[in-house]
Amino acid sequence: MPKICIDPGHNASGADTGAQGNGLKEADLNLDIARKLRRLLEANGLQVIMTRDGEFVNGPHSTVNESLKTRCDIANSFGADLFVSIHINAGGGTGSEIYALPGGQAVVAAQRVLDRLIYACNWANRGVKTNHEFYVLVHTDMPAILTENGFIDSQDANKISTEEFRQIIAEAHAKGICDFFGIAYGAPSQPVMYRVILDGLQIMALNSEETAISQVKEAVNNGRAQTGIVQRNTDGKNTFVYALPTQSTPSTPSTQVPEIPQHTPSRTKTPIMGTETITIEQCRSFLLRRNPNAPDIIPLYKKYGEILGIRWGYAVAQMIKETGFLGFGGSVGAGQNNFAGIGAVAAGVQGASFQTPEEGVLAHLEHLYAYASTSQLPMGLFKVDPRFDLVTRGSCPNWEDLNGHWAVPGDGYGEDIVRIYIQMASEIVVPVEPAKSTPLTAVKPWYDSKTLWVNFVMIAGILAQQLSGTDLFTPEVEASIIAVVNVILRAITKDKITWKQ
Ligand SMILES: [Zn+2]
Repeated sequence: MPKICIDPGHNASGADTGAQGNGLKEADLNLDIARKLRRLLEANGLQVIMTRDGEFVNGPHSTVNESLKTRCDIANSFGADLFVSIHINAGGGTGSEIYALPGGQAVVAAQRVLDRLIYACNWANRGVKTNHEFYVLVHTDMPAILTENGFIDSQDANKISTEEFRQIIAEAHAKGICDFFGIAYGAPSQPVMYRVILDGLQIMALNSEETAISQVKEAVNNGRAQTGIVQRNTDGKNTFVYALPTQSTPSTPSTQVPEIPQHTPSRTKTPIMGTETITIEQCRSFLLRRNPNAPDIIPLYKKYGEILGIRWGYAVAQMIKETGFLGFGGSVGAGQNNFAGIGAVAAGVQGASFQTPEEGVLAHLEHLYAYASTSQLPMGLFKVDPRFDLVTRGSCPNWEDLNGHWAVPGDGYGEDIVRIYIQMASEIVVPVEPAKSTPLTAVKPWYDSKTLWVNFVMIAGILAQQLSGTDLFTPEVEASIIAVVNVILRAITKDKITWKQ
């Protein structure tokens, strides 16, 4: 199977940082597309190496040329069959173009990938452009292409900024590369997910292995589980095993050595403040299954939870508990936008009302902040919680501490919230695959293929080269070849030909 070197253009900082615009950094987007592409190529059996899988190239990079040389060295020593450098354009404009050295297989590869990109991204075709200048094109030993995927500083940024669209870009690359090598592209049968298994029970599956590992560590360190495993769904392999040291019994022999934490946990409570790892989609899925008519307020919890540094997923769990999955069966009515029973201090007391769902969510999180933190509210946030100053600041750093405070008498109140959270976190949300595009060649008749006409143009060029210098090559013949080629080229690049009659 062919070997591909994927080169995510530029580094996150230092000498070669790439373009920026609309709050986006080219280096980050390039890496994300490259990682998505690697997964798709590997799923199709191709061997892949990346010049970087983090912020910098895997080698010297203190100058631009050093960084570029390192990329070429990686590709050359890997013995890649194709080098694909991924970039986002800048300078205002729209669409895709691909660079390659003229005259070789790189031009063919570039055209294959560009065909797929234009079709999938539905934006301007800026053509295959040849040059002798780009370092990575010149100093790689194999056919090399450099793809420009939209403009970071134009309206293209709206598209490129989304995960879904970058997946489409990666798929187009993968299909074009497969076309070039004559491989039938197949979509990966299932997305790679990482199961979080605590004491033998799967509690969630995430598409980030890093997040899955931190979930396992946190659960074991906080005493919620004895052992934790991160398991890849595609092959069932345990990629991470974690356990507290056992006191008396010797550990059972295992091929994987568990990572032993430095200290045993001193607390078994769940802090209110901290970084959240649950996803909006998991919360939504959990909520909508019980109440399909629930308003979509989860993103507001994430937005303000992150500003306040609160584990907002637990706040969602508290909201679910307080409102009965937003069914509002208790003394607080739906129109009050009061999602956590603020001020509903006794049965029959209506509690506070808020103008909008956004204000209601913010008040809920601010009330938690009052309990869990002694800091001032972050700058720029209005104090919308009417009971903020009635709280003994910092008196309840953990969810379990809210028993008898947020809820009276409140036995098991915090534990209930934690239980709801764990259930919610076990939601498996499979990312939506982008709509499959019909292969260009599958449904169209032979004369309906752009690739055919592109090849025709290339043959015409070779013919002209062969004829030149002979007396068959009159100015009239040359003019006719150029005229025909121009008509076809214009039609291909501007899609003027209605291929079906
Ligand atoms: Zn670039």
